[in-house]
Amino acid sequence: MWLRRGAPATTPEPSPEAEPHSALLLNEVHRRYSDGGATVTALAGVSLRVPRGSFLAVMGPSGSGKSTLLNCASGLDTVSSGSVRIGGTDTSALKEPRRTLFRRDRVGFVFQSYNLVPTLTAEDNITLPLRLAGRHPDRAWLRGLVERVGITDRLRHRPSELSGGQQQRVALVRALATHPEIVFADEPTGALDAQGARRILRLLADVVRDLGQTVVMVTHDPDAAAHAHTTASMTDGRIVDVHPAAATRRFTAVGGE
Ligand code: ADP
Repeated sequence: MWLRRGAPATTPEPSPEAEPHSALLLNEVHRRYSDGGATVTALAGVSLRVPRGSFLAVMGPSGSGKSTLLNCASGLDTVSSGSVRIGGTDTSALKEPRRTLFRRDRVGFVFQSYNLVPTLTAEDNITLPLRLAGRHPDRAWLRGLVERVGITDRLRHRPSELSGGQQQRVALVRALATHPEIVFADEPTGALDAQGARRILRLLADVVRDLGQTVVMVTHDPDAAAHAHTTASMTDGRIVDVHPAAATRRFTAVGGE
């Protein structure tokens, strides 16, 4: 099951042994921010299980908590209460710098703005996280990824010499280079034209299907979400609905056009 909804606060945290096939496990996650004197509750008790080798799209209106969910689930941000496990590690219990190291070694990111280093070639961008971790690149793995996304002839180019779609494909290979436990994609098609967007979405779906990768993608675009297996819809810091993603486009078409 993807979502354990309505779990009482007293529910014991599931042990990783009991959930051996989970890439990501959120248990009653709350995130509150102080804003001036007021407290903003960005996440109001999110419990979610993402099985290994699955593709989840997180949707919802602006301000519903999508980015906060992605930041808390990936360890970019801390939780106020509740727990986050990635592949059996309780990342919400990790203190700095271990949390940063865990993220670098075990989590992949694809951002809307690509986040490539402008002075490095595509190839050096791809291998940068590995070099920072002092790890040797798995050359055969990287070659396969580069061929899969179709950037073999662009590896010596810098980001400014690449189209947006090519830059995002470089970012996707970089995200996968470390064999991460999970890839988080934050509006990965937000800056792309329709063709570039379709290509990235198909590649994300392919790496889930062919390589058993787990992907969690935040998007406001129902067509993008339709490439995932499952869609979780957020409102006011809660997941209010989970349904098969193929239905996302259909529901939108019937209701919105
Ligand atoms: P979404 O990604 O769905 O647009 P967010 O996760 O960015 O939503 O935000 C959820 C809520 O939390 C919003 O009300 C937002 O203003 C608030 N919020 C997010 N980050 C912060 C922060 N660092 N400080 C204060 N409020 C925040």
